[in-house]
Amino acid sequence: DRSLAAADPEVHARIADERSRQHRTLEMIASENFAPRAVMEAQGSVLTNKYAEGYPGRRYYGGCEHVDVVEQLAIDRLKALFGAEYANVQPHSGAQANAAVMAALLTPGDTILGLDLAHGGHLTHGMHLNFSGRLYDVAAYHVRPDDHRVDMAEVSRLAHERRPALIIAGWSAYPRQQDFAEFRRIADAVGAWLMVDMAHFAGLVAAGLHPSPVPHAHVVTSTTHKTLGGPRGGVILAGTRELAKKLNSSVFPGQQGGPLEHVIAAKAVAFKLAAEPEFRERQVRTLAGARLLAERLVAEDGIGVVSGGTDVHLVLVDLRDSDLDGKQAEDRLHRVGITVNRNAVPFDPRPPMVSSGVRIGTAALAARGFGDGDFAAVADVVARALRPQVTESELDALADRVAALADRHPLYPELPA
Ligand code: PLP
Repeated sequence: DRSLAAADPEVHARIADERSRQHRTLEMIASENFAPRAVMEAQGSVLTNKYAEGYPGRRYYGGCEHVDVVEQLAIDRLKALFGAEYANVQPHSGAQANAAVMAALLTPGDTILGLDLAHGGHLTHGMHLNFSGRLYDVAAYHVRPDDHRVDMAEVSRLAHERRPALIIAGWSAYPRQQDFAEFRRIADAVGAWLMVDMAHFAGLVAAGLHPSPVPHAHVVTSTTHKTLGGPRGGVILAGTRELAKKLNSSVFPGQQGGPLEHVIAAKAVAFKLAAEPEFRERQVRTLAGARLLAERLVAEDGIGVVSGGTDVHLVLVDLRDSDLDGKQAEDRLHRVGITVNRNAVPFDPRPPMVSSGVRIGTAALAARGFGDGDFAAVADVVARALRPQVTESELDALADRVAALADRHPLYPELPA
């Protein structure tokens, strides 16, 4: 049988280009990471060939004896990692996990209460074009204008006024920790379910560096590819088995057909690695890097950071007082070899396609081995690149510094060229 290079030279060449891009540039998109080689090996395995509708031991297809073991390993490791009694590792993505939970707990037309997209929420927490906004009546809470922290008084007021069936905590662009116990207190007061979507900060929770939502929420969803550092995918967890049947049947047959057993194998590997000391040490570097970045940017004239700092793996740069907008900032950083995404900041006066912010994360660089000294250098490059009056020759010099940092930490050096 032919290799990829022989069968499809075009795709093979573009994969090689992408590998080179990932090595040469500094990946600071807060939702990205580098999956370890062992995770990629599992995902690129013969398990991609197997149909396995159902759950371990209760399948609708023959020949599942080996994928049953793999899926059970993934379930058991995930439960142990987060101290959960229930886990489902089949959701194809974070969005699918959230859709399955909502389908299990809600009837179309029910009210959901989540963090506003413009204040750091996710599409699946009620954006009007997403399934969540189309199927459910949406109420949204916000951050406070003065300190950019979630306004728990507003959450409580909206919960009592709108009587949501589901309250959603968790976020895509929020640099602080949320008070899960207070969310649960509010949910209980109005008879709502509480779902925490820990997609972004799951790796920090696994490492014991962020409070766990599992003891507080009725159900927890996550992606496996952000700070958790595994393959692209989703999971559902719960502290008890109360909702196990409902949630399982909502994933299959409710939302999905055959599970991606090759991805589930890769998830199992990632959960094993996430329990090792090296993973925790990497999350410590991730947090320290984000803090260094926030401190350096706050010291720069005309630049702010949302909430004044960070407790997590990302910084939201606030350019509301700068001549540079979010789009220009994203392009500037791309020009010097740093990849980020522009992002609205709370109370953003600029339109969403332009915006007044960029979201910058440190998880992927920590996976490459970046430590405090490297992150301090990166922070200095970012701060200088975002000066409105920077010259082309200064940008060239910053690009050289980025290239040197990238070369100091080769990506996948152990993989064949
Ligand atoms: N939930 C949150 C909080 C997210 O940030 C994301 C991804 O950005 C998702 C869910 C969706 O994950 P996926 O892209 O795997 O569907």
